[in-house]
Amino acid sequence: MKQIIEQFIADVEKRNQHEPEFMQAVREVAENVIPYIVQHDIYHGKNILMRMAEPERVVSFRVPWIDDTGEIRVNRGFRIEMNSAIGPYKGGLRFHQSVNLSILKFLAFEQVFKNALTTLPMGGGKGGADFDPKGKSDGEVMRFCQSFMTELFRHIGPNRDIPAGDIGVGGREIGYMFGQYKRLKNEFTGVLTGKGISWGGSMIRPEATGYGAVYFAENMLSTKSDGLQGKSVVISGSGNVAQYAAEKCIQLGAKVLTLSDSSGYVMDPDGIDADKLAFVIDLKNNKRERISKYVDAYPRARFHAGERPWAVPCDVALPCATQNELDENDAKQLAVNGCICVSEGANMPSTPQAIKVFHANKMLYAPGKASNAGGVAVSGLEMAQNSLRYSWTREEVDERLQAIMSDIHNSCVAYGQNGDHVNYEKGANIAGFVKVADAMLAQGVV
Ligand code: NDP
Repeated sequence: MKQIIEQFIADVEKRNQHEPEFMQAVREVAENVIPYIVQHDIYHGKNILMRMAEPERVVSFRVPWIDDTGEIRVNRGFRIEMNSAIGPYKGGLRFHQSVNLSILKFLAFEQVFKNALTTLPMGGGKGGADFDPKGKSDGEVMRFCQSFMTELFRHIGPNRDIPAGDIGVGGREIGYMFGQYKRLKNEFTGVLTGKGISWGGSMIRPEATGYGAVYFAENMLSTKSDGLQGKSVVISGSGNVAQYAAEKCIQLGAKVLTLSDSSGYVMDPDGIDADKLAFVIDLKNNKRERISKYVDAYPRARFHAGERPWAVPCDVALPCATQNELDENDAKQLAVNGCICVSEGANMPSTPQAIKVFHANKMLYAPGKASNAGGVAVSGLEMAQNSLRYSWTREEVDERLQAIMSDIHNSCVAYGQNGDHVNYEKGANIAGFVKVADAMLAQGVV
């Protein structure tokens, strides 16, 4: 088996050299899915996983824009249309200086499995640009978004490819891009999700990824007759996902100890309560400041420059910042400190070695493609509401989100149960694979 997997990886790598994040994501899936393929005749001789590892289409384009000093700047934009077997391409746009083809292909590949798990009819895609919105004025961000959409609009559409937000792309950026799309096409359609409520957005969309990751943690804990009430929680990040993961933890009676950004983390021994979280949301979303400012307002808290929060003792860890932000040593530290549950809000935040530590310690560990699927699930619900020309209430959307997270949990258990332990990684990969692969088989070699 090991040989078959290594041969597959070598074949994929030949075509995708110098793409470490993409290869990391492919390997993780291959290690779980190839043994399943070997046991199931219908997938034999179809080269199905190799087809899934090849994007249906990759678009790369120049994004020129003018900064506030009048200087002309150039960035590179991308859209990866990975797989449309079960629905139109769907996945976020990331604006961050680190964006490259490898990172977007890993995200698009993960997205295919994630979207399949949601039970909604969405294929997988991802896009973005190596543009850093941090420190840019609103005018600069608007001009960049308009230039980006002036090319992207040719490739997307409400029945073709429906982008959403990701790192560096929140409500402000979605608004600027939607405005430009509407102007270019002269039509008001649900071509992006994460829109404002008054112009086609869905209730709970900003909250959905963070809430979903916490609902997933609750589902995992419930298999041990446990729950978040009274638990201490360590969260990384302080952006969209981290903010709403923290909010839901607080609502469920947990104590949130940390938040972070790329400059370090804050630890509040008294817990970050609803008022303190409101302060953080204003700090990050309106003032666009650094998390280190938290300690100016709450002096009992400490800022740890250049560090990640995983050494802080906790019951539950929610990595909600970025890929590969939790390594083997961090995982060992979490295990030694008695952490029982890790639910990923970010995409691929744990390294492969860290995941091995979680499994070895029989921790409840959920990979992002399962536990952070709430965001794209509510994006799917936003698309449904746009098609219906109707809006559901906050309660209705939240109820659907909870039901979807519970369905995803059940799918992971169905394919990942191993004695008294559930391997959610294996469960998510196989459940996602089966849905997409069966659709691809039905549609022939396309
Ligand atoms: P935001 O841009 O709102 O926030 C990102 C947060 O992560 C910020 O606090 C940022 O700090 C921090 N961060 C980014 N890069 C790094 C880095 N290299 N090292 C340390 N910290 C970093 O993004 P989101 O909250 O939307 O996304 C966070 C994660 O969740 C990503 O992995 C994303 O792919 C995933 N995700 C998001 C979904 C969504 O609906 N938004 C859906 C599913 C997954 P700083 O400000 O210093 O950069």
